[in-house]
Amino acid sequence: MGGVQSNDPATRRTTCNHHWMAESLGVVVITGGSRGIGAATAVKAAARGWSVCVNYRSNKEAADAVARECRALGVNAMAQRCDVVDEAQVANLFETAERELGPVTGLVNNAGVLGTQGRFSSFELDRLRKILDTNVLGTMLCAREAVRLMESRRAGSIVNVSSRASVLGSADEYVDYAASKGAVDSLTVGLANELGPLGIRVNAVRPGLILTDIHASGGDPGRVDRLAPKVPMRRGGTPEEVADTIVWLLSEEASYVSGSFVEVSGAR
Ligand code: NAP
Repeated sequence: MGGVQSNDPATRRTTCNHHWMAESLGVVVITGGSRGIGAATAVKAAARGWSVCVNYRSNKEAADAVARECRALGVNAMAQRCDVVDEAQVANLFETAERELGPVTGLVNNAGVLGTQGRFSSFELDRLRKILDTNVLGTMLCAREAVRLMESRRAGSIVNVSSRASVLGSADEYVDYAASKGAVDSLTVGLANELGPLGIRVNAVRPGLILTDIHASGGDPGRVDRLAPKVPMRRGGTPEEVADTIVWLLSEEASYVSGSFVEVSGAR
């Protein structure tokens, strides 16, 4: 794809495929971008001028629709299948994003899974592996691939999607999930320290009860409404409210914010 840039900063536009497009802020890869918080983040990032690579695992149609919505906002966008647990697929995700959209300068490490609610003693090995593989190993593989690209350019911004669960522990629900998000928190602190000297920022959001499909996969589709009365703000949050924070952390408006955690949880 690529494009031609005008040198006049007042009118900097990029031509691409013979359409006039707003100049790209850079390229962001969003894992798990086919629905929920990832999809909302893709659209918000596009609205701010990022070119967007929408990663998905299974639902191509949903991811294609998100990429189309991004393009309608005047930026380049594509959908790319990749299971974040698979090293070769992750390498291919970033290679494809660079080839199709340009140098990757942003990563939103959002793909994540829950298991069915229950007591820790009942959790089988397969379930523990799935949670840790996706939420920890997948997050690390994507971060590593992004960092390899960003280190050579000494620029970039990574936002990891953690959870309030990392602090609350999710007793009687999914302690394994909470612990996986604890690992995401440690990764965020370590990478921010390691990459700070290179000008690469690494932050995390900790969403609270957000209205997405993830609760159905935990066996409790009505969880947000059931628990809303216990949230100080007395409601669940929307994916868009989380996306706004992620896109801010990605952006130059957060140029001195690194190693930080932003709770998006209505004070819960
Ligand atoms: P969601 O609606 O269930 O969406 C999850 C997304 O992750 C989907 O696009 C899914 O793709 C993708 N995904 C899952 N496993 C993947 C894999 N191995 N490779 C690539 N993509 C994969 O979830 P959500 O609520 O938006 O959650 C997004 C993130 O926010 C997660 O990390 C979650 O832990 C975190 N979070 C959510 C809440 C909440 O209340 N919703 C609160 C705190 C933190 P497929 O459709 O292909 O499966």
